Amino acid sequence: MPAWPSCARRGALWRMGWGKETGMNTPARQRTLCREIRLSGIGLHTGEECALRLRPVDYQSGIRFRRMDVNDGDALVLASPENVVAADHGTTLANEFGVRIGTVEHLMAALALCGVDNVEIEVSGPEIPILDGSSAQFVSAIAEAGCTQMSARREPFTIFAPMQVADGDRLIAFEPGPRRLDIEIAFENCMIGRQSLTLDLDDDHDIAKLASARTFCRLEEVEALRGAGLIRGGALANSIVVDGDRLLNDGPLRDQAEFALHKALDLIGDLYLLGAPVNGRIRAIRPGHEINTRAARELLREAGAASGPEQREVMGALA
Ligand SMILES: [Zn+2]
Repeated sequence: MPAWPSCARRGALWRMGWGKETGMNTPARQRTLCREIRLSGIGLHTGEECALRLRPVDYQSGIRFRRMDVNDGDALVLASPENVVAADHGTTLANEFGVRIGTVEHLMAALALCGVDNVEIEVSGPEIPILDGSSAQFVSAIAEAGCTQMSARREPFTIFAPMQVADGDRLIAFEPGPRRLDIEIAFENCMIGRQSLTLDLDDDHDIAKLASARTFCRLEEVEALRGAGLIRGGALANSIVVDGDRLLNDGPLRDQAEFALHKALDLIGDLYLLGAPVNGRIRAIRPGHEINTRAARELLREAGAASGPEQREVMGALA
Protein backbone atom coordinates (compact mmCIF):
# COMPACT_ATOMS: atom_id res chain seq x y z
CA MET A 1 0.00 0.00 0.00
CA PRO A 2 1.63 3.31 -1.03
CA ALA A 3 2.08 6.00 1.60
CA TRP A 4 0.41 9.34 0.97
CA PRO A 5 1.15 12.62 2.61
CA SER A 6 -1.25 13.48 5.36
CA CYS A 7 -3.79 15.51 3.47
CA ALA A 8 -7.37 14.96 4.55
CA ARG A 9 -8.54 16.35 7.83
CA ARG A 10 -11.97 16.43 9.30
CA GLY A 11 -13.55 19.44 10.81
CA ALA A 12 -11.78 22.12 8.80
CA LEU A 13 -14.66 23.16 6.56
CA TRP A 14 -16.26 25.60 8.94
CA ARG A 15 -12.97 27.46 9.21
CA MET A 16 -13.10 28.00 5.47
CA GLY A 17 -16.54 29.49 5.77
CA TRP A 18 -18.12 27.06 3.34
CA GLY A 19 -21.60 25.75 3.91
CA LYS A 20 -24.16 24.91 1.29
CA GLU A 21 -27.30 25.11 3.36
CA THR A 22 -26.36 28.01 5.53
CA GLY A 23 -24.54 30.21 3.05
CA MET A 24 -20.99 31.39 2.87
CA ASN A 25 -19.15 32.32 6.05
CA THR A 26 -21.45 30.19 8.15
CA PRO A 27 -20.48 26.75 9.40
CA ALA A 28 -22.55 23.92 7.92
CA ARG A 29 -24.64 22.08 10.45
CA GLN A 30 -25.49 18.40 10.57
CA ARG A 31 -28.93 17.43 9.36
CA THR A 32 -31.44 14.68 9.87
CA LEU A 33 -34.90 13.97 8.47
CA CYS A 34 -37.91 15.93 9.71
CA ARG A 35 -39.97 12.76 9.83
CA GLU A 36 -39.68 9.07 9.05
CA ILE A 37 -39.84 7.70 5.50
CA ARG A 38 -41.13 4.30 4.41
CA LEU A 39 -40.23 2.68 1.10
CA SER A 40 -40.25 -0.84 -0.26
CA GLY A 41 -39.22 -2.79 -3.32
CA ILE A 42 -37.21 -5.78 -4.44
CA GLY A 43 -33.50 -6.29 -4.00
CA LEU A 44 -31.49 -6.32 -7.24
CA HIS A 45 -29.42 -9.34 -6.27
CA THR A 46 -31.68 -11.27 -3.88
CA GLY A 47 -34.89 -10.60 -5.84
CA GLU A 48 -36.65 -10.45 -2.47
CA GLU A 49 -39.15 -7.85 -1.36
CA CYS A 50 -37.64 -5.56 1.21
CA ALA A 51 -39.15 -2.76 3.31
CA LEU A 52 -37.26 0.28 4.55
CA ARG A 53 -37.96 2.79 7.27
CA LEU A 54 -35.66 5.80 7.51
CA ARG A 55 -35.84 7.40 10.94
CA PRO A 56 -34.50 10.72 12.21
CA VAL A 57 -31.82 10.27 14.87
CA ASP A 58 -29.80 12.55 17.12
CA TYR A 59 -26.72 14.43 15.96
CA GLN A 60 -23.41 12.55 15.79
CA SER A 61 -25.35 9.29 15.32
CA GLY A 62 -24.16 8.98 11.74
CA ILE A 63 -25.78 6.70 9.18
CA ARG A 64 -26.64 3.25 10.42
CA PHE A 65 -28.60 0.30 9.13
CA ARG A 66 -30.69 -1.93 11.38
CA ARG A 67 -31.62 -5.39 10.12
CA MET A 68 -35.10 -6.03 11.49
CA ASP A 69 -34.95 -9.75 10.67
CA VAL A 70 -32.03 -10.63 12.94
CA ASN A 71 -31.51 -10.65 16.72
CA ASP A 72 -31.69 -7.18 18.13
CA GLY A 73 -28.20 -7.27 19.64
CA ASP A 74 -26.59 -8.13 16.30
CA ALA A 75 -28.75 -6.00 14.04
CA LEU A 76 -26.87 -2.71 13.75
CA VAL A 77 -24.53 -2.18 10.78
CA LEU A 78 -22.78 1.18 10.66
CA ALA A 79 -22.11 2.93 7.36
CA SER A 80 -18.32 3.05 7.27
CA PRO A 81 -15.74 2.26 4.60
CA GLU A 82 -14.21 -0.11 7.13
CA ASN A 83 -17.38 -2.20 7.20
CA VAL A 84 -17.30 -2.98 3.46
CA VAL A 85 -17.06 -6.74 3.00
CA ALA A 86 -17.91 -7.04 -0.71
CA ALA A 87 -17.69 -4.54 -3.56
CA ASP A 88 -18.01 -6.62 -6.71
CA HIS A 89 -21.48 -5.83 -8.08
CA GLY A 90 -22.66 -3.40 -5.44
CA THR A 91 -21.43 -2.39 -2.01
CA THR A 92 -22.10 -4.71 0.92
CA LEU A 93 -21.51 -3.80 4.55
CA ALA A 94 -21.31 -6.12 7.55
CA ASN A 95 -20.93 -5.73 11.29
CA GLU A 96 -18.67 -7.70 13.62
CA PHE A 97 -21.28 -10.46 13.87
CA GLY A 98 -21.22 -11.01 10.11
CA VAL A 99 -24.69 -9.49 9.65
CA ARG A 100 -24.75 -8.00 6.15
CA ILE A 101 -26.63 -5.33 4.25
CA GLY A 102 -26.17 -5.18 0.47
CA THR A 103 -26.60 -2.66 -2.37
CA VAL A 104 -26.34 0.33 -0.07
CA GLU A 105 -24.76 2.65 -2.65
CA HIS A 106 -27.79 4.33 -4.24
CA LEU A 107 -29.36 5.09 -0.87
CA MET A 108 -26.01 6.35 0.43
CA ALA A 109 -25.74 8.55 -2.67
CA ALA A 110 -29.22 9.98 -2.04
CA LEU A 111 -28.25 10.81 1.55
CA ALA A 112 -25.09 12.49 0.22
CA LEU A 113 -26.95 14.50 -2.42
CA CYS A 114 -29.57 15.60 0.12
CA GLY A 115 -27.02 16.36 2.86
CA VAL A 116 -28.42 13.92 5.46
CA ASP A 117 -25.79 13.29 8.16
CA ASN A 118 -27.74 11.31 10.72
CA VAL A 119 -30.33 8.62 10.02
CA GLU A 120 -31.24 5.10 11.03
CA ILE A 121 -32.33 2.85 8.18
CA GLU A 122 -34.42 -0.10 9.30
CA VAL A 123 -34.35 -2.88 6.71
CA SER A 124 -36.53 -5.99 6.65
CA GLY A 125 -33.94 -8.10 4.81
CA PRO A 126 -30.37 -8.29 3.59
CA GLU A 127 -30.52 -5.84 0.68
CA ILE A 128 -31.66 -2.27 0.01
CA PRO A 129 -34.41 -2.21 -2.66
CA ILE A 130 -33.20 -1.29 -6.15
CA LEU A 131 -36.39 0.70 -6.99
CA ASP A 132 -35.83 2.09 -10.52
CA GLY A 133 -32.05 1.52 -10.42
CA SER A 134 -31.29 5.15 -9.56
CA SER A 135 -31.45 7.34 -6.46
CA ALA A 136 -34.45 9.34 -7.70
CA GLN A 137 -37.09 7.81 -5.41
CA PHE A 138 -34.87 8.05 -2.36
CA VAL A 139 -34.12 11.69 -3.13
CA SER A 140 -37.74 12.65 -3.72
CA ALA A 141 -38.85 10.85 -0.53
CA ILE A 142 -36.16 12.71 1.46
CA ALA A 143 -37.12 16.02 -0.18
CA GLU A 144 -40.77 15.40 0.67
CA ALA A 145 -39.98 14.56 4.30
CA GLY A 146 -37.64 17.54 4.60
CA CYS A 147 -34.46 17.86 6.64
CA THR A 148 -33.76 19.75 9.81
CA GLN A 149 -30.50 21.29 10.92
CA MET A 150 -28.97 20.18 14.18
CA SER A 151 -26.75 21.94 16.67
CA ALA A 152 -23.59 19.97 15.78
CA ARG A 153 -21.27 21.08 13.00
CA ARG A 154 -20.79 18.90 9.97
CA GLU A 155 -17.21 17.66 9.79
CA PRO A 156 -16.29 17.15 6.15
CA PHE A 157 -13.22 15.48 4.73
CA THR A 158 -11.26 18.44 3.47
CA ILE A 159 -8.53 17.72 0.94
CA PHE A 160 -5.37 19.72 1.65
CA ALA A 161 -2.94 17.98 -0.71
CA PRO A 162 -3.32 15.70 -3.72
CA MET A 163 -3.73 11.99 -3.10
CA GLN A 164 -4.77 9.14 -5.32
CA VAL A 165 -5.67 5.48 -5.39
CA ALA A 166 -4.92 3.52 -8.56
CA ASP A 167 -5.65 -0.01 -9.67
CA GLY A 168 -4.56 -0.89 -13.21
CA ASP A 169 -6.41 1.52 -15.50
CA ARG A 170 -8.67 2.72 -12.69
CA LEU A 171 -7.95 5.84 -10.69
CA ILE A 172 -9.59 7.94 -8.00
CA ALA A 173 -7.70 11.16 -7.24
CA PHE A 174 -8.43 13.95 -4.77
CA GLU A 175 -7.03 17.44 -4.77
CA PRO A 176 -7.81 20.70 -3.00
CA GLY A 177 -10.39 22.76 -4.80
CA PRO A 178 -14.09 23.26 -5.36
CA ARG A 179 -16.44 20.31 -4.97
CA ARG A 180 -16.28 19.08 -8.57
CA LEU A 181 -16.18 15.56 -9.91
CA ASP A 182 -14.43 14.81 -13.19
CA ILE A 183 -15.32 11.35 -14.38
CA GLU A 184 -14.32 9.19 -17.33
CA ILE A 185 -15.70 5.77 -18.17
CA ALA A 186 -14.85 3.37 -21.00
CA PHE A 187 -16.91 0.38 -22.09
CA GLU A 188 -15.57 -0.60 -25.47
CA ASN A 189 -17.47 -2.40 -28.22
CA CYS A 190 -20.93 -1.24 -27.19
CA MET A 191 -23.09 1.87 -27.23
CA ILE A 192 -21.68 3.05 -23.89
CA GLY A 193 -18.20 3.66 -25.32
CA ARG A 194 -16.25 6.45 -23.69
CA GLN A 195 -17.95 9.18 -21.72
CA SER A 196 -16.46 11.96 -19.65
CA LEU A 197 -18.01 14.84 -17.80
CA THR A 198 -17.47 17.32 -15.00
CA LEU A 199 -20.10 17.74 -12.31
CA ASP A 200 -20.54 20.47 -9.75
CA LEU A 201 -21.50 18.58 -6.60
CA ASP A 202 -23.22 21.64 -5.14
CA ASP A 203 -25.25 22.48 -8.24
CA ASP A 204 -28.93 21.54 -8.08
CA HIS A 205 -29.13 20.80 -11.80
CA ASP A 206 -26.16 18.39 -11.65
CA ILE A 207 -27.51 16.83 -8.45
CA ALA A 208 -30.85 16.13 -10.18
CA LYS A 209 -29.09 14.53 -13.17
CA LEU A 210 -27.02 12.35 -10.87
CA ALA A 211 -30.01 11.27 -8.79
CA SER A 212 -31.97 9.98 -11.77
CA ALA A 213 -29.17 8.06 -13.52
CA ARG A 214 -29.95 4.33 -13.56
CA THR A 215 -27.70 1.33 -13.09
CA PHE A 216 -26.75 -0.57 -16.24
CA CYS A 217 -25.26 -3.77 -17.52
CA ARG A 218 -24.44 -5.42 -20.80
CA LEU A 219 -26.56 -8.30 -22.01
CA GLU A 220 -23.56 -10.64 -22.16
CA GLU A 221 -23.00 -10.06 -18.43
CA VAL A 222 -26.55 -11.00 -17.49
CA GLU A 223 -26.10 -14.77 -17.85
CA ALA A 224 -22.82 -14.77 -15.92
CA LEU A 225 -24.29 -12.67 -13.11
CA ARG A 226 -27.40 -14.88 -12.90
CA GLY A 227 -25.14 -17.95 -12.85
CA ALA A 228 -23.33 -16.43 -9.88
CA GLY A 229 -26.66 -16.06 -8.06
CA LEU A 230 -26.75 -12.31 -8.60
CA ILE A 231 -29.29 -9.89 -10.18
CA ARG A 232 -32.24 -12.22 -9.37
CA GLY A 233 -34.32 -9.07 -9.13
CA GLY A 234 -32.84 -7.48 -12.26
CA ALA A 235 -35.33 -6.28 -14.86
CA LEU A 236 -35.65 -3.59 -17.49
CA ALA A 237 -37.72 -1.66 -14.96
CA ASN A 238 -34.68 -1.25 -12.71
CA SER A 239 -31.66 -1.41 -15.03
CA ILE A 240 -30.52 -0.21 -18.40
CA VAL A 241 -29.48 -3.21 -20.47
CA VAL A 242 -27.22 -2.71 -23.47
CA ASP A 243 -26.74 -5.25 -26.24
CA GLY A 244 -23.91 -4.00 -28.44
CA ASP A 245 -25.16 -0.81 -30.03
CA ARG A 246 -28.72 -1.43 -28.90
CA LEU A 247 -30.63 -0.36 -25.83
CA LEU A 248 -33.02 -3.14 -24.73
CA ASN A 249 -35.18 -0.79 -22.65
CA ASP A 250 -38.20 0.77 -24.33
CA GLY A 251 -37.74 4.35 -23.34
CA PRO A 252 -34.80 6.58 -24.21
CA LEU A 253 -31.92 7.24 -21.85
CA ARG A 254 -32.69 9.85 -19.21
CA ASP A 255 -29.52 11.69 -20.17
CA GLN A 256 -27.01 11.30 -22.98
CA ALA A 257 -24.35 10.66 -20.32
CA GLU A 258 -26.53 8.46 -18.09
CA PHE A 259 -23.87 5.74 -17.88
CA ALA A 260 -21.14 8.12 -16.66
CA LEU A 261 -23.66 9.83 -14.39
CA HIS A 262 -24.55 6.51 -12.78
CA LYS A 263 -20.90 5.64 -12.20
CA ALA A 264 -20.53 9.08 -10.60
CA LEU A 265 -23.58 8.37 -8.43
CA ASP A 266 -22.07 5.07 -7.27
CA LEU A 267 -18.84 6.85 -6.39
CA ILE A 268 -20.67 9.54 -4.42
CA GLY A 269 -22.58 6.85 -2.52
CA ASP A 270 -19.45 4.84 -1.76
CA LEU A 271 -17.52 7.90 -0.59
CA TYR A 272 -20.43 8.88 1.65
CA LEU A 273 -19.69 5.78 3.74
CA LEU A 274 -17.32 8.28 5.35
CA GLY A 275 -20.45 9.88 6.82
CA ALA A 276 -19.55 13.38 5.64
CA PRO A 277 -18.90 15.11 2.32
CA VAL A 278 -15.50 15.31 0.67
CA ASN A 279 -14.50 18.94 0.37
CA GLY A 280 -12.23 19.00 -2.67
CA ARG A 281 -11.97 18.08 -6.31
CA ILE A 282 -12.34 14.43 -7.30
CA ARG A 283 -11.11 12.86 -10.51
CA ALA A 284 -12.31 9.35 -11.34
CA ILE A 285 -11.20 7.19 -14.24
CA ARG A 286 -13.17 3.96 -14.69
CA PRO A 287 -14.41 3.98 -11.09
CA GLY A 288 -16.05 0.92 -9.56
CA HIS A 289 -17.15 -0.12 -6.08
CA GLU A 290 -13.86 -1.84 -5.30
CA ILE A 291 -11.65 1.20 -5.93
CA ASN A 292 -14.32 3.63 -4.67
CA THR A 293 -14.51 1.99 -1.27
CA ARG A 294 -10.71 1.65 -1.14
CA ALA A 295 -10.42 5.38 -1.79
CA ALA A 296 -12.90 6.01 1.05
CA ARG A 297 -10.82 3.85 3.39
CA GLU A 298 -7.66 5.73 2.44
CA LEU A 299 -9.35 9.09 3.08
CA LEU A 300 -10.48 7.83 6.46
CA ARG A 301 -6.97 6.65 7.28
CA GLU A 302 -5.49 9.96 6.15
CA ALA A 303 -7.97 11.85 8.25
CA GLY A 304 -6.76 9.97 11.28
CA ALA A 305 -10.33 9.10 12.12
CA ALA A 306 -10.07 5.40 11.44
CA SER A 307 -11.44 2.99 13.99
CA GLY A 308 -8.91 1.15 16.10
CA PRO A 309 -6.94 -1.90 14.95
CA GLU A 310 -9.47 -4.13 16.72
CA GLN A 311 -12.22 -3.29 14.23
CA ARG A 312 -9.88 -3.62 11.25
CA GLU A 313 -9.01 -7.13 12.38
CA VAL A 314 -12.71 -7.97 12.47
CA MET A 315 -13.07 -6.55 8.96
CA GLY A 316 -10.18 -8.66 7.74
CA ALA A 317 -11.78 -11.76 9.19
CA LEU A 318 -15.06 -11.03 7.45
CA ALA A 319 -13.61 -10.07 4.08
ZN1 LIG B 1 -25.08 1.74 -9.04
